[in-house]
Amino acid sequence: MCLKNPISINELTQASRPLRNILDQIRVQCTLCAQTDLQRGNFVDHINKICPKSVVPCQAADIKCPWQGPRDELQSHISTCVFEPLRPVLSSLIAQNRQLIDQVQKHDNEIKKLIQQMHQLQPTATNESNDESDSSSVSKFSIDDSNQKEEDAIFIRNLPATIKFNDLFDLFSKIGRIKYNANTKKAEVFIFKNPNKKDGLCNAKVVFINKESAAAAVVEYNGKHIPQWNTRLQVNISYPKKKNLNEVGKTYNRK
Ligand SMILES: [Zn+2]
Ligand SMILES: [Zn+2]
Repeated sequence: MCLKNPISINELTQASRPLRNILDQIRVQCTLCAQTDLQRGNFVDHINKICPKSVVPCQAADIKCPWQGPRDELQSHISTCVFEPLRPVLSSLIAQNRQLIDQVQKHDNEIKKLIQQMHQLQPTATNESNDESDSSSVSKFSIDDSNQKEEDAIFIRNLPATIKFNDLFDLFSKIGRIKYNANTKKAEVFIFKNPNKKDGLCNAKVVFINKESAAAAVVEYNGKHIPQWNTRLQVNISYPKKKNLNEVGKTYNRK
């Protein structure tokens, strides 16, 4: 052995059993409790089971008592420990909590799986949602009846409850040609009555053959007072969801 090189721990080998037996009989002192005359071979047992100054947890540590302290203070802690008396309640709550954590974990995994599946489906879904991002403007101008553009139609508010098809037809025919529907064999004038409305005012929709007429009707009649109907009209280009209005209008026209 070279004295100039310090010994590395890797070079050390365990002493033989007889040598260790002799060494284990050496008397040592505990640095925690200062007890002397301990056999070296029993020192681990002393720390783990006997040493009064060795730090131990409360016996209720399993139900979350945070206390830790020297072994010789454990008995006095146990006599005042607030956790131990609650053991039945706490242990059942802890068990339930563990189950819930397991369930949440399971659900998290399922959600992750579903998200993955969703991403795999994404290509078609993305196209649709791109369309929908413009849906407000698209639906304004979308066409159910392929022959009709929404810009050709006007929506009229503040009409008296007594308003008739012919009244509207006569008034708005002065502006431009109202579209004729070959299927219903009627001009496209729809009156929407609202029986729930107290003032009895109703609305209507008129479809012209072109958007110039619709725009002209708005310019001419929006905000205009009509003496014979005793009302001030509100006239706008019609941008409602057409499907519903048509259904109502057609129902009305059949009467
Ligand atoms: Zn000790
Ligand atoms: Zn405790």
